Amino acid sequence: MCMFAPASFVESLVIWSKALEHFMSNDVQIASISVDLDSMACYREIHGLDAAKVEGADAAYAVGVDRLLGFLDELGLKSTLFVVGKDAENPAHHGLLKDASTAGHELANHSWAHDYAMRKFSEVALIADFERAEEVLVEISGQKPRGFRTPGYNVDSRLINICERRGYAYDSSVFPCPSYYTAKGAVMGWLKVRGRPSRSSMTRAEALIAPIHPYHPDPQKFWRRGNSKIVEVPMAVTPGTRLPIIGTSLHLLKAKGFDIAYAMMRRTNPFLNLEFHAIDFMDDSDPGVEFLRPHQPDLQVPWAEKKALYRHVFSRVNEDYDFDTLINLARAAREK
Ligand SMILES: [Zn+2]
Repeated sequence: MCMFAPASFVESLVIWSKALEHFMSNDVQIASISVDLDSMACYREIHGLDAAKVEGADAAYAVGVDRLLGFLDELGLKSTLFVVGKDAENPAHHGLLKDASTAGHELANHSWAHDYAMRKFSEVALIADFERAEEVLVEISGQKPRGFRTPGYNVDSRLINICERRGYAYDSSVFPCPSYYTAKGAVMGWLKVRGRPSRSSMTRAEALIAPIHPYHPDPQKFWRRGNSKIVEVPMAVTPGTRLPIIGTSLHLLKAKGFDIAYAMMRRTNPFLNLEFHAIDFMDDSDPGVEFLRPHQPDLQVPWAEKKALYRHVFSRVNEDYDFDTLINLARAAREK
């Protein structure tokens, strides 16, 4: 922990001075809801379980995506959906994705293969993955994706540079959160000891010291500010302490805990990237998630309870921020 303490102190000073500047200038604040549409196969890989054959729509789509679109529609909010290309190729998912795009949600690239070791791909394999994912998203929405998120937050400079060369406006893969990194390492270690190794892979540790607000990365050191044209939009964390404010952590914080964390963020973060997964819109009574019951405790929280919590979170955030898609957030951040 102590290696982060001095950085956190300096960061707090910088953040508060920026916040003062921001409030003096009366700038608009933008929040985005971004949702990674990871299918059940991804969770089998994370938990080291055997693959299963899926007929028709995956539960993440049939229940999770369907439910999240209905919920956001009730609230009048638009999100950014990070779509896995191979899942988008499943005809059973086309209708939902097309409807989402038509309704104004942004479809962004979450890779074609959703391989957690993507950053270790050869250049040729990486380009092929991007091309195939872009092709299916163009087929569904008529538009090339403008944003990318790598599986498992396993980003590096090469991936971001490829995004820039391919004309992406932003990457959103950096999760500057030491507690997430520690927890992920512990879970992966535990699964390995039990002889059921996770097929996820560890994030580059440098991401932990990356800026917590959108920034133009250094082309060689993605965790530093630099002169890349592309904007990096990190996941939301609290300033200084860098606690995660993503779907999974909301279930631990609950409404009161979120309010405390939010009080730290609302005056200091001009942009908020609230990241969710399709599974955050499901519970263990839903069909197709039975196998995950012992592995995903957050599934024990009933959807009705999650819905009430998200409603609280979004309405609190909406007191200070305008909600918009990540592409519009990235554009606004670029202009700053
Ligand atoms: Zn994912």
